[in-house]
Amino acid sequence: MSLTNSDMLDGGNRLPLVEDFYTIQGEGFHAGKPAYFIRLGGCDVGCRWCDAKYTWNPKVFPPVDVDEVVKRAKACAAQAIVITGGEPLLYPLEILTSRLRDMGLEIFLETSGTHPFSGEFDWVCLSPKRQQPPLAEAFGRAHELKVIIQTEDDFLWAEENARRVGRYCRLYLQPEWSVFDEIMPKIVEYAKANPRWSISIQTHKFMRIP
Ligand code: SF4
Repeated sequence: MSLTNSDMLDGGNRLPLVEDFYTIQGEGFHAGKPAYFIRLGGCDVGCRWCDAKYTWNPKVFPPVDVDEVVKRAKACAAQAIVITGGEPLLYPLEILTSRLRDMGLEIFLETSGTHPFSGEFDWVCLSPKRQQPPLAEAFGRAHELKVIIQTEDDFLWAEENARRVGRYCRLYLQPEWSVFDEIMPKIVEYAKANPRWSISIQTHKFMRIP
């Protein structure tokens, strides 16, 4: 279900765009890789520590033609696209992803998995949230499970989710930024004791890039 008027989206030919820009992916499996970010507005998950609260209300971001965004992505040197939000799966993504694919670009998705999948992706990063857990289908689609750790209780939540993903899904624990100093030593110890987990850091914050 869309948070914005579905007629305005014309089946996915238009999407509520917050911003699009070329940068370096800071976190998760593709950390360090140059990528063009397409950030869509709208999210109904409501994480307290969300660092993209400005994206939550899609009405603030009038729908933009997908072809315009794809043209901008193609005009730079990017080989990979990160579709993020907000929660991008609120919207039909078939048209966006097929246009990007036609351009020969790799397509990565960042999602909470709380809405049905649409579109085709080369890589899906699933970041589950307790207050609105992912739909069952999201676990089978995930190439990467990235769990945000704010307190030690979140390790249990991480394990619950890890039991549901596929065998080859990469597992990441990522410190919640506002408690980085307190939680980081605990994450280090947890990963050392449970080495199927790796640690993801928001390196873009250290690089001072978006
Ligand atoms: S799911 Fe993502 S965009 Fe939505 S509130 Fe949580 S952190 Fe923010």
